[in-house]
Amino acid sequence: MKKKLLVISGSSGVGKGTVLKEVLKTRNDIKYSISCTTRNPREGEVHGQHYFFLSKDDFMNDVKKGNFLEWAEFSGNFYGTNRELVQKMLNDGFNVSLEIETDGAMQVKKKVPDCTMIFIAPPSIEELERRLRGRNTETEEAIQKRLKMVKIELERSKNYDYIVINDEVSKAAAKILEIIDA
Ligand code: 5GP
Repeated sequence: MKKKLLVISGSSGVGKGTVLKEVLKTRNDIKYSISCTTRNPREGEVHGQHYFFLSKDDFMNDVKKGNFLEWAEFSGNFYGTNRELVQKMLNDGFNVSLEIETDGAMQVKKKVPDCTMIFIAPPSIEELERRLRGRNTETEEAIQKRLKMVKIELERSKNYDYIVINDEVSKAAAKILEIIDA
């Protein structure tokens, strides 16, 4: 069977990382694509595990060489998906999940029209703001920037194949597994 490319997006703080972890825990046929970013590592984040942390120069060099399947600027930093790494995982027989923001997701949809696009939405914007602040990892300015993006991203969720509301992690994960197996 042809391997699937899953594109998963959702507003910052919606808990998409947690939901995706739950999904991946139960499935060894799905590999997580590790992105490149120019943002600084948060406490506990490991190069090559959570992200490949690159300098702006290195990132832009990769852009010039066409090494990214997609890339975008988000909240003042660059993020991108390495094309070769994704291709290798697909060639090795795995389904691949990309956890990326909406601009990059649209780029993937254009290049790989049969990808499955899933948007994870918060139960409400108020709940999202509470979660974002509870994370305690961002400055107020960064939080404000991310909240502005929330509205734009919710608007773009119309372009997705599926919208999953994350009111409970296990339920959202189960819904995503259902979609993958559909
Ligand atoms: P964070 O800084 O919170 O880890 O990620 C910020 C946003 O960038 C999130 O919406 C995340 O999904 C997105 N992101 C992470 N990796 C990539 C990527 O490779 N490409 C794009 N376009 N977005 C990404």
